Amino acid sequence: MTLRTDDLIASGLVAPARRDEIRRVAERFSVAVTEEMAALIDPGHPNDPIAAQFLPSGAELTTASEELADPIGDQRWSPVPGIVHRYPDRVLLKPTVLCPLYCRFCFRRETVGKRPAMLHQAELQSAYDYIRQRPEIWEVIVTGGDPFVLGPRRLGCIVRALDAIAHLGVIRFHTRVPIVDPRRITAPLISALSVEKALWVVVHANHPRELTPAAREAVARLLRSGIPVLAQTVLLRGVNDDAAVLEALFRGLVAMRVKPYYLHHADLAPGTSHFRTGIRKGQCIVRDLRGRVSGLCQPSYVLDIPGGYGKVPIAPAAINHDRASGGWVVADRDGVCHAYPPDPEDRED
Ligand SMILES: *Cc1c(COP(=O)(O)O)cnc(C)c1O
Repeated sequence: MTLRTDDLIASGLVAPARRDEIRRVAERFSVAVTEEMAALIDPGHPNDPIAAQFLPSGAELTTASEELADPIGDQRWSPVPGIVHRYPDRVLLKPTVLCPLYCRFCFRRETVGKRPAMLHQAELQSAYDYIRQRPEIWEVIVTGGDPFVLGPRRLGCIVRALDAIAHLGVIRFHTRVPIVDPRRITAPLISALSVEKALWVVVHANHPRELTPAAREAVARLLRSGIPVLAQTVLLRGVNDDAAVLEALFRGLVAMRVKPYYLHHADLAPGTSHFRTGIRKGQCIVRDLRGRVSGLCQPSYVLDIPGGYGKVPIAPAAINHDRASGGWVVADRDGVCHAYPPDPEDRED
């Protein structure tokens, strides 16, 4: 069962004084929390990191001047409905804008959960045609919304259609379902994903408490069927902007056989300024993590450039060119600098 605005109010998870503000937020943005995530919320904890991610807050009604309805410029790169084609070799395919729950910081919050909820059959066919006609497309990233809210039958159709396109090498799904709604990872869903091509799943997790026994088991079912699983995390103020919290999250994921792929700097989505940290703070956390955990536990810290210019790594540089020597100065994990010789083409001898 999913909790909507009235259920959240009736559940006692929302203080009576906040009812009106929550109803006002729900008029503008989608609201839903899965039972699993609602059960994790500690109502006695004023800054509960699970509550912060999923329970609406009046702060969402304030839009900062730098915020954008389409923060990463999807619209600009959408040639046909449901497709975003920003990089030559890969496209996003968004069959639905529905999610099992709605993250309060979502960068697609102006569209998720709204109508039309799904691509029609004809639109899906045009999306497949778009991919079929372009042999340079090697990877399709099925996202949304959350594609795993589609039942096994619908998912199976999508996966088989993509599997039949010879020039595709990889089908990748981005989903929060295995973590926040693990019961949906059923045997029929997994068999719908079992195809010839490499199919990868990227889950989204932001706090170690999300890695519940049920979530671990759902991820294990995907892994046992031979599907590699990666994770992405959004850096969020008051949720995980702390090296110790991220360390616990990334260690937890790696111990589940899940490789942390990206740590996203929070996008400039409307009404989300209370979630954003500064980039300098993000870089400090990433530098701190480098000293704490193995390479397996380190995702790449990325920014999606507003306007649709794509993702770029923004971790602090460990190495800088040194004008005086013509070589390099490289900082170790304690911040101590060491000289590295000039590049062969820069040597004078
Ligand atoms: C994030 C994104 C991708 C995937 O990028 P990777 O760096 O390959 O994970 C592809 N297309 C669009 C439009 C994206 O926003």
